[in-house]
Parts: sequence; C-alpha cells; structure tokens
Amino acid sequence: MTPGAQNRTLLVSQIKDGTVIDHITAGEALNVLTILGIAGTTTESLSIATNVASGREGRKDIVKIERRELRKEEVDRIALIAPHATINIIRDYEVVEKKGVTIPRVIRAVVKCPNPGCISNASEPIESAFEVLPKGLHCLYCDWMITKDIASHII
Ligand SMILES: [Zn+2]
Repeated sequence: MTPGAQNRTLLVSQIKDGTVIDHITAGEALNVLTILGIAGTTTESLSIATNVASGREGRKDIVKIERRELRKEEVDRIALIAPHATINIIRDYEVVEKKGVTIPRVIRAVVKCPNPGCISNASEPIESAFEVLPKGLHCLYCDWMITKDIASHII
C-alpha cells in the first residue's frame, strides 16, 4: 500500500456499541489491552491501529472494543501508560460520552509489588497500593519504587 492510500476514515471506522480509546501513546496499544485484561482468550471484538499519523502529536495508537463500555477504574489504569488517551463511549454509532484519563494519586490492586518480602505479596488479603509519582510508582507498604516498564507489573 502506498502511503497516500491510507484512509483516515478506515482507521477510525465506526463501531455500533462499545469503547474507542484514542490518542494512546504510540506502541502502547497492546499494553492497554493487558491492563484491561483483554487477551486472546476473551470474546471482545477488537480493532487495533498502531502508529497512526496524528497531527501535532506525531504517532498514536487506537483501540476499539465492541460491546464493552469501560468503567472509571479501568480508565484510570490506562492513564499509567497512556496519559493522553481519550475514551469515547459509543452507543448506536454515536459518541455518548467522551472523557480524558486522569492519573490517579494512588492505585490499588493494579500493580504487583516487585519486592517478594512486601506485605502486599503475603498471603494476607492486602491489596497492593502505590502512590503515583512523576518518577514512577512508590509502594505504600515497603517503599519499593517501580520506575520503568510499569506495564509488566500489572496484575
Ligand atoms: Zn511493596
């Protein structure tokens, strides 16, 4: 395909009901799916576009999920790896809700602490809790810092 043949409307083709996650940081689409718990075994109908040309931002990824509306806590998870993402809720081909993502101050039960001695990894039913800092995620129980590859620590 020649570059000129790329049709923008094809890449953002409509879905009837579901969620369109737009403006995902380029290259993070698959990590977004991991965060949402969508793997090859789930039944959602997905469309994924990666490295789409996007005006001022350069490149972005887009994920479309049919027949699923994202909840607030799922959106907050996405913010960790795609802080500029926008979430469009679609019903009957219309955007009924459009929201940005907000990076939460504290995230609970989203990321597993890499410290095996951390109490959040013990058998007690304690949910992990991380403070979201500019340099990374800070475990509220053991002070461990996750500074890179956050997606690989997602529960
Ligand atoms: Zn910890």
